Amino acid sequence: MATSEQNYDALVLELKEISLLAYTAAVLGWDEQTQLPRNAANYRGDQLSLLAKLVHERLVAPKLGDLLSSLKASPLPGAADSDAAVNVRQTRRVVDRARKMPSSLVQELARVAVVAQHAWVEARKNSDFAAFAPMLEQMIGLKKQQAACLGPTAHPYDALIDEYEPGETAAGVAEVFVSLRGPLVDLVGRIAQVSHKGKGALLTGDFPRAGQEAFAREASVAIGFDFDRGRMDTSTHPFCTHLGPSDTRISTRYDERHFNDAFFGVLHESGHGLYQQGLPVEHFGTPCGEYTSMGIHESQSRLWENFVGRRRSFWRHFFPKLQQRFPATKAVSEDDWYRAVNHVAPGFIRVEADEATYNLHVLLRFELETALISGDLSVSDLPGAWNEKMKAYLGLTPPDAARGVLQDIHWSSGGVGYFPTYTLGNLYAAQFFAKAQEDLGDLDSSFARGDFKPLLDWLRANIHSKGQRYGARELVRRVTGKPLSAAPLLAHLALKAKEAYGV
Ligand code: ZN
Repeated sequence: MATSEQNYDALVLELKEISLLAYTAAVLGWDEQTQLPRNAANYRGDQLSLLAKLVHERLVAPKLGDLLSSLKASPLPGAADSDAAVNVRQTRRVVDRARKMPSSLVQELARVAVVAQHAWVEARKNSDFAAFAPMLEQMIGLKKQQAACLGPTAHPYDALIDEYEPGETAAGVAEVFVSLRGPLVDLVGRIAQVSHKGKGALLTGDFPRAGQEAFAREASVAIGFDFDRGRMDTSTHPFCTHLGPSDTRISTRYDERHFNDAFFGVLHESGHGLYQQGLPVEHFGTPCGEYTSMGIHESQSRLWENFVGRRRSFWRHFFPKLQQRFPATKAVSEDDWYRAVNHVAPGFIRVEADEATYNLHVLLRFELETALISGDLSVSDLPGAWNEKMKAYLGLTPPDAARGVLQDIHWSSGGVGYFPTYTLGNLYAAQFFAKAQEDLGDLDSSFARGDFKPLLDWLRANIHSKGQRYGARELVRRVTGKPLSAAPLLAHLALKAKEAYGV
C-alpha cells in the first residue's frame, strides 16, 4: 500500500500532466485569437473540444478521486495553508465541479464557444445583432444547463461566477456594487460638468503604430514584464494568456489616431502578465502555482493601468519619452497630459472607458447577464434592455449594436459571470494600493525615477507568490487587515477628481 507521501507525489504528477493538456489547449486558444484564418474556426473548435474532453476525463477519473480520498484521510496535508493542504483542497473543488458536468456538455460548450465567437466577430463587424442572436441563444441555453448541473445554488448565476471568482455569489456582488453605485453616479455627474478641462482631445492625433508599439513595450518592460518569458501580439480583443511557466502572452490593438487604447491596454495586460510571471514556478501545474481568482487577476491589471499608469509621478518619468517619440505632443504640457489621461466622460465602449465610468459599464452587464441566466430577460429583448440601462447609467444611447450590445466577446465565448470580476478587480486594486502606500511610504519618488520595483516586489510577496493559498476575499483581508469595501476605490476616484478637475 502506498504511503501518504507517495500518494501526494502521485497527485502532483497527475495535476502536472492535466496542466500540460490544459496549457496545450491554451496555445491553440492563443493562436485562434491572433492568427487563425477565418474559415478554420470549425476545425479549431473540434481540436479544443477534444482537449477539453481529455482534461475533463482526467479530472473525473477514479485515479484522481482515489488519490484525493486517501490524502483526505491521512495527516499529510497538515495546516490549512500548507502546500499539500492547498493543493488537495483546491483540486477537490475543481474535481467536484467537473464531476457535476456531463462530458457531452463540456464538449458542446467548448465547440459552441468557438463557433459563436466567430459569428460574433462577423456580427460585430456588420453591427447585426440578429445574425448573432441564435448563437447567443444557444450559448445562454448551455450556460443555464451548466448552472443546473453545478447547482443547486441560491441563484443559478452563483454556479457560473464561482468558476471565475470562487466562493463569490450574485448576492455578494450586488451588495458591494450597490454601495459603489450611488457615490459613483454622483461623482461622474460632478466631473461631467467640468470634464472639458480634462483635455481628452489631446489623446487624439498622430500616433503611428510603430511608435505606439515601441513606447508601450518600453513601459511594459519598465514595470517589470519579462519579454524573455512572454511576448506581445495583436488581436481584435486585447487579452493575456498563460501557456506555460515561462510563457505569458499579452495582446493589444492599435488605433493610429488615438493614444489611449494600445498604451493603457498594454499596461493593463502587462499587469495581468506580471501576476502570471510572479506565480511560483516550482508549483506550476498545481493550485499553489495558479492564480486565485479572476478578480484578483484583474486587480493586478487595474493597479498598473490606473493606480500607476494614470498617476502624475508615472508621467513625470514617461512624459519626456512620449514627447520624443510623438512630435505632435511637443506642444503639450505635462500637466495637460496628466489631465488628458485622466479624462472622464461617459462613452459607449467599456474597454475604452475611463476608470470612473468603467464600473457603470460593468454594473449594466452584471444586471443583464444575471437576468439572462435567471430567465427574466430573453435574448431577443437584450438589445433594448442594454440601451435602456446605458441611458439610465451613462446618459447615452448607442447608435448601433457594434457600439452597444455586440461590443464584448464574453457572452459569445461562454464567459457569463466574468464581468463582475472587472469591478471587483478595481475594488481589490484600490484596497491593495492603499496598503502598499502605507507599507512602502513614498512610492511617487520611485515612480518619477522610473523605478517600479518596490511596488512589484510588494505585490510579488503579498499576492503573486501566494497562488491559490487564499481565496480572493480572504487574501484581501489578510493583506490589508480589512474586509472588502468600496471605500478605498471611492476615495481614490474622489482624490483623482480633485487633482485633475478640482471637483
Ligand atoms: Zn483585464
